[in-house]
Amino acid sequence: MNFRKPKGTKDILPKEISKWHFVESVIREVTGLFNFSEIRTPTFEYTDLFKRGVGTETDIVGKEMYTFLDKGGDSITLKPEGTAPVMRAFLESGIYGEQNLHKLYYLTSMFRYEKPQAGRYREHTQFGGEILGSDSIYTDVELILMAKEVYNRCGISNFKIKLNSIGKPDERRNYIEILKEYLKEHLDELSEESKKRYETNTLRILDSKELGDRKITDSAPKITDHLGIESKKRFDDVVNELTRLGIESEIDFRIVRGLDYYTDTTFEFVSSDLGSQDALGGGGRYDGLIEQLGGKPCAGVGFGSGIERIIIVAEKNGFTFGMPKNPIVYFIALNDDAKKIAYSAALSLRNNNIACDTDLLNRSFKAQMRDANKLGVKYVYIIGDDEIKKQKGILKNMSDSSQIEVSFDKVRENIL
Ligand code: AMP
Repeated sequence: MNFRKPKGTKDILPKEISKWHFVESVIREVTGLFNFSEIRTPTFEYTDLFKRGVGTETDIVGKEMYTFLDKGGDSITLKPEGTAPVMRAFLESGIYGEQNLHKLYYLTSMFRYEKPQAGRYREHTQFGGEILGSDSIYTDVELILMAKEVYNRCGISNFKIKLNSIGKPDERRNYIEILKEYLKEHLDELSEESKKRYETNTLRILDSKELGDRKITDSAPKITDHLGIESKKRFDDVVNELTRLGIESEIDFRIVRGLDYYTDTTFEFVSSDLGSQDALGGGGRYDGLIEQLGGKPCAGVGFGSGIERIIIVAEKNGFTFGMPKNPIVYFIALNDDAKKIAYSAALSLRNNNIACDTDLLNRSFKAQMRDANKLGVKYVYIIGDDEIKKQKGILKNMSDSSQIEVSFDKVRENIL
């Protein structure tokens, strides 16, 4: 019987894993530099969390969730995004009462039933950050800087930072009416998808990829021209602060984000190296979300970025990830007694944090030597009949082929 992985998923094979380890270590390093703490939430949640927290009119909830009834009859959904679960954990655990400001990050699988294509999977891994408890413009700026630092350390420089503000909920509602009024005259020319969105998720028409839609929305009223004084100033302050810090960004009225919970700043990192799925990462403020989920009013801003896309862009930029770490020593044993000695010696090295390997296939000397070469070890340690008689094996330095006799319990001292 032939089994295949489910559509839209991937195996990360040993030859690719060092790329993942590299990106993960960059994320741990950079989140540490910015003083973010990791939070891990379950792989699945009760479906209502996403319906309430993300919104039923969004693509994620409306079309893409992996939802099923468990054996107890509860509706369960595999996590399609990171913010709602983090907010749920934040409220449920009571950590929000412990201090005023929380800087959290996550690194986890997300599941979305989407049409798979390059850079778009049904299970992807997302790195995300959330800052809760402050509406300072520096929280928006800090998240953008943190994401940028992760990308830069992964050798990625060809991205654009696109910013927009979708204002406070009442400003947005007011703008949506203005946008609808404008689009009404073009309704017949819009794509089928955008026609559907006209009533339910009008803002998303702005980020349609259809050329026809884009032509129409090019001249649509812009939300940044319809913000109240306070929201407009807040947005200008974010843009100006990024400029002061030497971070290039551009204002793009199409960055509306798909989710209901966003307010004020929205942003995306886009890269032309990604083709049609050009978003490397994105996020925005969600000052009303915690209240919507039953908490006290609490400001928040977050962003998420797919690791798969980071790796795609890094590779297109010619970035070479660290090589996997090879073992230092390979034990070549030529008979059964030698194998026992080799195994004990290998164990002792491992206990001393020195990576090593032995033959597990009863191969010939030549085949074991080939294996050692393939692994790129620094030393081989050879034990045969003569070596057992002398109680000393042969330690061969692979870089200059020099060899010395070393007692079975002195390998470590001779390789350091
Ligand atoms: P979103 O919440 O949709 O903006 O997603 C945040 C980030 O996650 C995107 O910018 C992508 O980097 C990544 N992402 C989202 N969906 C997928 C997917 N289906 N496959 C791979 N990466 C994804």
